[in-house]
Amino acid sequence: MAAGAAEARVTTGPERRDVVVDLGPRSYEVVVGTELLDELGARLARLAFHGRVAVVTSTRVARLYRDPVVRGLRAAGFEPLVVELPDGEEHKTLASLATVHDRLLEAGVERRTPVVALGGGVVTDLAGFAAATLLRGLPTVLVPTTLLGQVDAAIGGKTGVNHARGKNLIGAFHQPRLVLADVAVLSTLPRRELLAGVAEVIKYGVIGDAALFGRLEERLPDLLALDPELTTSVVAACARQKAAVVADDEREERGGRAVLNFGHTVGHAIEAATGYRRFLHGEAVAIGMVSAARVSERLGICDAGTAGRIENLLERAGLPTRLPEDVPVDALARAMQSDKKSSGGRIRYVCVAHVGRTELVELAVQDIVDRL
Ligand code: NAD
Ligand code: MG
Repeated sequence: MAAGAAEARVTTGPERRDVVVDLGPRSYEVVVGTELLDELGARLARLAFHGRVAVVTSTRVARLYRDPVVRGLRAAGFEPLVVELPDGEEHKTLASLATVHDRLLEAGVERRTPVVALGGGVVTDLAGFAAATLLRGLPTVLVPTTLLGQVDAAIGGKTGVNHARGKNLIGAFHQPRLVLADVAVLSTLPRRELLAGVAEVIKYGVIGDAALFGRLEERLPDLLALDPELTTSVVAACARQKAAVVADDEREERGGRAVLNFGHTVGHAIEAATGYRRFLHGEAVAIGMVSAARVSERLGICDAGTAGRIENLLERAGLPTRLPEDVPVDALARAMQSDKKSSGGRIRYVCVAHVGRTELVELAVQDIVDRL
């Protein structure tokens, strides 16, 4: 197979794929590859930035990557100011946002000062929102360091923080100027976080890229071992799909982003019903994808065997695929009823037509929980 042959090619230089998020004057590149952290300074200079750069990161990521990033920025003539936030979703709050505002204003940032977000989705969402709100908008460059960040959170301009009433309730759309996805940094990611990202990667295969799904079936162990060339091409394939959806429906006004929610109706309900403590988002989505595929089979939307194929790949990746018995199904049903996407107990549900294609169907909550 041609793609396989290209993959087997031995390369000596860094891997690279460029994906463009096409949004007219707000278009930007998502660069995927290795050794990209080293290029941050040069790439900021190419965007005509100079002088001070704010780097927002979290303590754990800072311990690993702060020094090389700061050295690289200084070598390119920048004056980096680093703001480190405590790690974790529980710190994606207005209080952390205020910390970033305070530190950046104390340092005298100006409208042209770029904010570099270095970290997982928590950091890119929060730093992106801080940049969106400071001085009515500072430019951002996102350097996502989790697989989920590289294939999802860093692309599309959604930024924000959580509120006691729910996740991501305070935020804004603010597109970055550039996204640098260095797949080499994924090697330090805790295994469980990596696998949670793999669930979203598998989702992209199911919803819009049968070739990607096939490649994952063939080479899953290489992806889990973070083979640089394969990881670069897989992350780029996912980024390309997210970029296309975003370009088509930037502000989620036309429902175009709905396909990205495959597996997420049930996934979100599982997260809510278990207090956001037991499952990582990607793990809950893995269970949700199998459930959605089973519903699709029962409704005759896809061929028998489709759910099994998806479940098999997720299982091989070490992801959960079935709801544990101690999670009550009625708690899930309640969570789905109160989901912002439900109206009158009915939900616009993303079904799978075949691997690589989805179909939106309006379903009752009961139809969905029946197949858990
Ligand atoms: P995260 O940001 O909490 O990162 C997970 C953990 O990995 C953290 O402890 C982090 O410190 C650590 N980490 C990050 N990079 C590392 C590395 N290279 N090596 C070692 N450790 C590393 O979680 P996440 O899954 O990246 O992001 C989840 C967040 O993303 C949620 O808040 C979610 O709402 C948001 N999100 C946003 C969008 C969007 O469109 N904006 C889309 C999806 C998810
Ligand atoms: Mg998701």
